[in-house]
Amino acid sequence: MPFSSSCSSVGDQLMSQFMTVLALDFDGVICDSAEEVLQTALEAWSEVAPNSRLQTEVESRPESRAAFERLVPLGNRAEDFGVALHVISNGLDVRTQEEYDRIRDGLGTDWLGHFHQLFYRTRHRLRNDDPECWLGYHRTYPTFIEVLERHQHHTTLAVVTAKDGASVRLLLKHFEIDRLFRDGLILDKETGVAKTSHLRILAGQLNCNPSQITFVDDKLNHLVSTASLGVRGVLAAWGHNTTREHEAARHAGFPVATLETAEALLFGD
Ligand SMILES: [Mg+2]
Repeated sequence: MPFSSSCSSVGDQLMSQFMTVLALDFDGVICDSAEEVLQTALEAWSEVAPNSRLQTEVESRPESRAAFERLVPLGNRAEDFGVALHVISNGLDVRTQEEYDRIRDGLGTDWLGHFHQLFYRTRHRLRNDDPECWLGYHRTYPTFIEVLERHQHHTTLAVVTAKDGASVRLLLKHFEIDRLFRDGLILDKETGVAKTSHLRILAGQLNCNPSQITFVDDKLNHLVSTASLGVRGVLAAWGHNTTREHEAARHAGFPVATLETAEALLFGD
């Protein structure tokens, strides 16, 4: 109940104490989940194509892994990891969003829906069967976490993510940074499909204008889709993106923060 009176009063209190509001995407901003995504996608792929040698190929050939990492920013949802593996598996040459979208559309909604389900079922299984191994697939970005720790006392930190809340809380605890985020300010996949929902609700909870929120995400399309709210969008260059996205973000007028420039860009230090 994000707009309840108790939340508003918490919001008033927070806003009077903290001037900077940082709304942070989780994967690719706080958490490096590249390995977990790859392992989950490959496991799911082995059910789509039981005789495929893709798992061995991606794990043994750095070029295949790099190709996967280049394709990830062109997608948005779990099924896109399947699209990326389809592209690699078939040796397709995909360089632009248009080329990617054409292949994605060609796979059809049934295929995409099937892979989406398979991906989440696989993630659930891997997380529950061996939680330690699953947690071990994840890293933080230590330099960025140090920045957050330095500024935590004059900043309101929120998570705005499409990931499930249970995984996010588990990982924050695993990284020993759960104390940086108030539980009510972790807005997860249940909050809504688009990040505009997350940011609207966050502004309501904090009783602030969206223009007071700096939104840090590693997906350019999330910055583009939320710009109309008036939030200040910043691309996290350390996340799951490439120089292709950095250039496009600058072209669209969004600042691109690196681990070296993030502190000055976000806090003016
Ligand atoms: Mg992300």
